[in-house]
Amino acid sequence: MLTEILSDQQLIDLYNEGGYLISVDYPKQEIKFHTIDCMLADPISTVGVKPSKAKESQCGEVWYSKERDEVLDKADKIVKEKGYTLEICAICDR
Ligand SMILES: [Zn+2]
Repeated sequence: MLTEILSDQQLIDLYNEGGYLISVDYPKQEIKFHTIDCMLADPISTVGVKPSKAKESQCGEVWYSKERDEVLDKADKIVKEKGYTLEICAICDR
């Protein structure tokens, strides 16, 4: 099921579930696709995805699903609606 992630804690709690996420960056008009265990998706890391901050500052959104296709469908929709660029993370792409 596709779920919007609204806080860092919610993302941390899902870590052991496995799955995939996209991080949408409004200012950069960019979407990044990661596996949930990617270091660049870890909210605890300084370089990681930060759903709480994105939500508070209204500069982005994060979507999660256990199904890769569901997350990519959501990304595809945003690409078509807003013209954002989708980037598959080079570190966790598999
Ligand atoms: Zn990644």
